[in-house]
Amino acid sequence: MFSFAAVPIRCSIAFVALEAAGLGGVFAHGQVAGPVTSQAAQPAAPAAAAELRVFDPSLIDKAVDPCDNFYRFSCNGWFKRNPLPADQTRYGRYTELYELNRLHLKQILEETAAPAATRNANEPPRSANEQKIGDEYASCMDAATVNKLGLTPLQPELDRIAALKSPAELPALLAHLHAIGVNAFFGMGSNQDFADSNSVISYYAAGGLGLPERDYYTRTDAKSVELRQQYVAHVRRMLSLAGETEAQSAKDVQIVMAIETRLAKASLTITEERDPQNLNHPTDVAGFSKELTHFSLADYVVAAHAPAAGKANDAEPKFFAEFNALAADTPIEQIGTYLRWHLLHAYAGTSLPESFDNENWNFYSHTLNGAEKQQERWKRCTSRVDDELGEALGQVYVARYFPPEEKQRTLDMTLAIEQAMDKDIDALDWMSAETKLKAKDKLHAVMNKIGYPDKWRDYSTVKIVRGDALGNQMRVHEFDQARDLAKIGKPVNKGEWQMTPPTVNAYYDPQMNNVNFPAGFLQPPFFSGKEDDAANYGDMGSSVGHELTHGFDDQGRQFDKDGNLKNWWSKDDEQKFNERAECMVKQYDAIEAVPGVHLNGKLTLGENLADLGGLWLAWLAWLDKAEAVHLDMTAKTDGYTPDQRFWIAYAQQWCTQTRPEQLRTQAESDPHAPDEYRANTVLTDLPEFAKSFSCKKTAAMVSPKPCRIW
Ligand SMILES: [Zn+2]
Repeated sequence: MFSFAAVPIRCSIAFVALEAAGLGGVFAHGQVAGPVTSQAAQPAAPAAAAELRVFDPSLIDKAVDPCDNFYRFSCNGWFKRNPLPADQTRYGRYTELYELNRLHLKQILEETAAPAATRNANEPPRSANEQKIGDEYASCMDAATVNKLGLTPLQPELDRIAALKSPAELPALLAHLHAIGVNAFFGMGSNQDFADSNSVISYYAAGGLGLPERDYYTRTDAKSVELRQQYVAHVRRMLSLAGETEAQSAKDVQIVMAIETRLAKASLTITEERDPQNLNHPTDVAGFSKELTHFSLADYVVAAHAPAAGKANDAEPKFFAEFNALAADTPIEQIGTYLRWHLLHAYAGTSLPESFDNENWNFYSHTLNGAEKQQERWKRCTSRVDDELGEALGQVYVARYFPPEEKQRTLDMTLAIEQAMDKDIDALDWMSAETKLKAKDKLHAVMNKIGYPDKWRDYSTVKIVRGDALGNQMRVHEFDQARDLAKIGKPVNKGEWQMTPPTVNAYYDPQMNNVNFPAGFLQPPFFSGKEDDAANYGDMGSSVGHELTHGFDDQGRQFDKDGNLKNWWSKDDEQKFNERAECMVKQYDAIEAVPGVHLNGKLTLGENLADLGGLWLAWLAWLDKAEAVHLDMTAKTDGYTPDQRFWIAYAQQWCTQTRPEQLRTQAESDPHAPDEYRANTVLTDLPEFAKSFSCKKTAAMVSPKPCRIW
């Protein structure tokens, strides 16, 4: 999670707040993620694995007409059983499993964290990884020590910022703050060259905001103005907690807002960021250095231990021009104020006293997302260790909870869906034979990664000290930054994962051309060896299809089979694709998610397209399987035919309770549509669904103008 999340093009299936800090996550604005433990989802009582079913007839509400609102029909029983708990901003089937996984992780962590005195003398000593995850968990859980230490562990960093006296000193200071995970001004790390996916280069991204994304600084509606006022109050309280007087914090917050607003206005919108062309500005470190006339990039890279030469990408030239101007015209003590706020912000989770922790929660979870109660500390500490040392923890998790046969079953399903896509491309009536060949080349080149990495990350250089929560957080950041920068100029590691094994999510990486399904996701209620193909293909199959389709959505289709940003489409086919995509943009633009806030059809296009394409591919693959085994399509189980069960299993994965504040934040800034529309809108585009439930042409679940691309 600390790794440099500069490139907002890795497409996950689920809403990212589950594992990110609520500050943007994988689609972040080139930012290093914020405090890891503060905004993770906060499920209620965890469900037992045995209770979770992929197709669950007990969730169905027969009083609802499936042709009228299929989501309600499929999920009302779940809603009745799962009222939204006070510490939740959003609670759905993904959270159910996330919570179950978190319980399993807690057990591992409690075992490895047990103090030496309580350990059985016959037990083998902890392995190096067990020492790290155990002691990090123990340090995080030790709130008494964290409270007692107060700001002391952060004081050297505060002093360092206070010592900033001239613009010439800024580059080295900023390099250090970036290394310890502070999202100040911009982000720097490594990424594959857009033009040459085999080459890893330096990557400079826009960043430096405390609100979720740039439009939060520019919107003028009443709710947005109020949110900004609440943000100002939050920044002030944080500065006061760090010892500023009322008068000082009142003045300082204006400085912070002025700087962040300037950065925001010069940044791309999150919709613009979705187009990789907008982020592709190849240069080299020397050339980029010449652009920054008021900031010594040479000093910065030396202090950051980053390459001083070689290829680089200036992801947002307009942003860096503004940063350059800002570095020239902003008094150095004002820059210090801005840095102080971002330092406090970066550490205001479980590493700082409860006063900071609570204040941070109050704005990011309560105000922005509607949570009414902070989640318990063990949950946050478990998520923290997963974020920080995820492959050390994940290795134990996989050994205990992910049998090898699960990996094989997922691989079989993935191959079946890839085969269905191959046939589907052949059958497309709008694409030329020439482009079809290239699409199939790309499909055949997709690498399937399932469960966990073949080679585990080596954490041997991370020092974890029991009782030093803040120092540990800092050292993990430094480790991750060094690991990231070491990739520059080296061969691409295609086996690396962007998600940890226990994660309940999946992603497609267009520069790698691979699909990734973490072990944590491949379980009920999404996938089960005990249930039939109709249920499993409707649910996990549609997710597999979703990730595959990302390779061919408005973003992914711009990358070729080797992951290069290189157009392989004929002009005519491209135009036909865009016309079809426009149908979906309009369809989702028309949806009003909360009063006054419509979905953003362009922002959510890639996800909506992946949802529709993914479900269609799963359907095709399932039909093939059903035919191969001569499945009786009229035989009912639990009162439903196999095809009906397929659609219900699809919709039931999206059963989710969401607070209005969270829904608003999601509608404004998440590339995924809210769950209700992910279930319903996609189905209205598929006549095959309408046929399964004998829906009339005029029914709400039948679109008068269905969209279809893949
Ligand atoms: Zn997706």
